[in-house]
Amino acid sequence: MSPLLPKEESKGHLLSGWLKRDTPKRSKIITTPKGDVIKKANHPHEPEKRLVRCFDCNHRQWVPISAESTQCGRCSVYISMGDLVIKNPSSQNIRTRGDVTVEKRGSLIGCDIACHNLTVMGQISGSVDCSGVAHFKHSSKVMGSMHCKHLIIEKRCEIFFPQGVMAEEVDVYGTLIGNVLCSGVIRIYPTASVIGDATAKSIVMKDGGVLTGMMSIRQNLDITLPTKKRSTGFLTDTDAAEDDEDQL
Ligand SMILES: [Zn+2]
Repeated sequence: MSPLLPKEESKGHLLSGWLKRDTPKRSKIITTPKGDVIKKANHPHEPEKRLVRCFDCNHRQWVPISAESTQCGRCSVYISMGDLVIKNPSSQNIRTRGDVTVEKRGSLIGCDIACHNLTVMGQISGSVDCSGVAHFKHSSKVMGSMHCKHLIIEKRCEIFFPQGVMAEEVDVYGTLIGNVLCSGVIRIYPTASVIGDATAKSIVMKDGGVLTGMMSIRQNLDITLPTKKRSTGFLTDTDAAEDDEDQL
């Protein structure tokens, strides 16, 4: 006869219950609906932190949400965390890990954009490195490379990526022209058209959605941005693999 145990423990949860009691309390890591990776504080005096990726070496580190800037722990580059709203035409390069919003009358033409979340209601044309959500609400053309965590293209928007787009997750409600490399899932909604080749871990076609091009399903697709050479040294891919936080 089996020993007297609480009902759920007798069903094989005994070990997991024992582990839970003996493991020290770890900070809770969550992904917000906006796509931010947040480390919750264990104690009230600890700040809540956000995962921030370096522009140059791709090193990821935890930074208090309220911080206005930080420095890369590996390559020492300065990282601004300030938000920017573009209300007028501009061609200045942008380097922040805060959020960038391009308003209806604003535009970013012929420049490099590095940011966390990017919301586009005006025109942009350049290279984009977006560590959060790139949300297109207006037709646009991204002439350079486009790299983001989560790409969203709204209804009635036509976005042209001549050099293709790399993302971890893609939601298309409008029209995407260009090749897509996605390490996660591409969702093509009933109002959407993807004109180009789509390579992803999985592709969800909703009834009415259009895909004109090749469809390839690939596991373990690596879309990591190449690290940039810096005058202080040369960072290799081996450096990147050595860091635990980079695996997040
Ligand atoms: Zn760095």
